[in-house]
Amino acid sequence: MLIIGSHVSFGKEQLLGSTKEAISYGSTAFMFYTGAPTNTIRKEIDKKLTTEAIKLMQENNIELKNVICHAPYIVNLGNRENEEKYQFSIDFIRNELKRCDEMGISSMVLHPGNAVGKITKEEGLTNIVNALNQILDGTTKCKILIETMAGKGSECGSTIEEIAYIVNNTNKQDQIGVCIDTCHINDAGYDVNNFNEYLDKFSTLIGLNKIGCLHINDSKNPKDSHKDRHANIGKGTIGFNPLIDIIYNEKLSSIPKILETPYIGDTDEDKNRLYPPYKFEIAMIRNKEYNPNYFADIRDYYQKNK
Ligand code: FE
Ligand code: FE
Ligand code: ZN
Repeated sequence: MLIIGSHVSFGKEQLLGSTKEAISYGSTAFMFYTGAPTNTIRKEIDKKLTTEAIKLMQENNIELKNVICHAPYIVNLGNRENEEKYQFSIDFIRNELKRCDEMGISSMVLHPGNAVGKITKEEGLTNIVNALNQILDGTTKCKILIETMAGKGSECGSTIEEIAYIVNNTNKQDQIGVCIDTCHINDAGYDVNNFNEYLDKFSTLIGLNKIGCLHINDSKNPKDSHKDRHANIGKGTIGFNPLIDIIYNEKLSSIPKILETPYIGDTDEDKNRLYPPYKFEIAMIRNKEYNPNYFADIRDYYQKNK
């Protein structure tokens, strides 16, 4: 069975709301933030809503192991210029893992961090590893999946070598893994048309058993651009068929694939992003057939169902 979904919101109904949204797109997996990705304010996890969510998942072919959390991206474990802030980030991420444990969520995606200011990439990577070894102190169960980054600005983790450094130096090996983002690896300079070559290198330096999630995004920019701007499936520089080849790669059949593509507006130029593309992108992926008019179909569908 194809394990596919998108990122969804985690609102008032928490995991139950996310599950309902994922079902509306025809998903068998999904990813959510446990609060706004841009801040660190968090509400208590509601047990009743969680139980209801898990029941609804079971009725709709969504396995809990394919439900992924994403840590907020404002937390930067690469920066240790201010020890207090660094410790705050460590405690915050550990707390997010606890929240995941409360819901039975087994994986949380994390952007490794940035080497900001005067520090070098190496120092940034050292800070990240040190932080991970403090976070994973044996009091939690949920895994951390380090995301492969585009290499925008001072981002750490844009090469397989950097990801390998982080993963291989983490003490708790059973709680560390990787999330591969197709837009990011394209922008970082890897050839997504030769994904098996990428996997071979990944396998040598890290191990395929460490892959816990795939982010499926097209890219608005060419290979090696170091930009990180996601495009809708088939509308970017990667294109539909290379993404299909990655999604259906036999070595990755048990790994959840998550779309993080942008919402679309009433027209192509419209900056008011109103409509989620996921129901239609998932359908094309299931059919392995690109529909060049799918933006029009999305507008039609949501305008009728407003
Ligand atoms: Fe991410
Ligand atoms: Fe991503
Ligand atoms: Zn991105």
